[in-house]
Amino acid sequence: MSLQSYRWLMTAANAPLERAAFYAEPGPGEVVVGVAGCGVCHTDLGYLYDGVRINHPLPLALGHEVSGRVVAAGAGAEGWTGKAAIVPAVLPCGACDLCRRGLGTICRAQKMPGNDIQGGFASHIVVPGRGLCEVDEARLAAAGLTLADVSIVADALTTPYQAVRRAGVKPGSLAVVVGAGGVGGYCIQIANAFGAKVVAIDIDDDKLHAMSLHGAALAIDSRGQDLKTIKGAVTDFAKKQHLGTTEWFIFECSGTAAGQLTAYGLLVHGATLSVVGFTMDKVELRLSNLMAYDARAIGNWGCPPESYPAALDLALEGKVQIKPFVEAHPLDDINRVLAAVHAGEIKKRAVLVPS
Ligand SMILES: [Zn+2]
Ligand SMILES: [Zn+2]
Repeated sequence: MSLQSYRWLMTAANAPLERAAFYAEPGPGEVVVGVAGCGVCHTDLGYLYDGVRINHPLPLALGHEVSGRVVAAGAGAEGWTGKAAIVPAVLPCGACDLCRRGLGTICRAQKMPGNDIQGGFASHIVVPGRGLCEVDEARLAAAGLTLADVSIVADALTTPYQAVRRAGVKPGSLAVVVGAGGVGGYCIQIANAFGAKVVAIDIDDDKLHAMSLHGAALAIDSRGQDLKTIKGAVTDFAKKQHLGTTEWFIFECSGTAAGQLTAYGLLVHGATLSVVGFTMDKVELRLSNLMAYDARAIGNWGCPPESYPAALDLALEGKVQIKPFVEAHPLDDINRVLAAVHAGEIKKRAVLVPS
């Protein structure tokens, strides 16, 4: 069964996207998902505007935060037909040695929509059935969420979920999140849900205010403040909260050079620095501080599909709020929306919804 479909293609860097028709047809093990929504990520902007390399040759539909309904299935994936699902941003092959050892995020045969395969800025997307995260629509409705709303679980929520889980945040931890935007905002909420006291650092008052209502116990506006002052404020807070001044969990979510320097400068003894945001910019820092502080720095590429249900549960249980942080736009307005997100005119996570 093939379905008449359309997608918005990137044909060259910095060029407007072009709408193109195609027939969506599932191969063995694959499904066709009718897209309910696809979130616009900082990474999409990096591909389009900043020369970040894409694995698939152009033209390519970007978009890797996809939710929708399975409308057709290939051989072996028939069980998915009709189900609502979230498509993980990173789909491991499930069969290689790395996958068998539970290391799917570094699977070398992994597929990322909008990078390795055609993405979700489209009416339909063809993806492997394995690894999809089923969405219980009764629970979704009870939580006051739409299927389009939870598209952002595919990256903005699960990526920091994996970072917080892997870092080992637990009740009584102090977590510092640099960058309170699309990913950082969820990092704050998730660290709070894991029982940490959370400090949010950003240069945008509106974002800090929003996060002080959703999980940040302390919000620091870092504009015009030197590192010593910022670290002093976190230290004072830690002492007042009886959390101590060792073993902080620091999450760099801004994806900026300035944010990376701030995050690195907050290292304390036994700290864990998680690099969650991405930038092409370089920073100069003294790597030996890791040695001297007996600290560790860890990267983070996506989230294994097997962790998606637990991450989605946080949203369905109301421990992580999505609704205040997303806004839907028609998919056919994609060129205007991407430009507006790039220009900082849309501050919430934009979710593109096919008509
Ligand atoms: Zn992303
Ligand atoms: Zn694999």
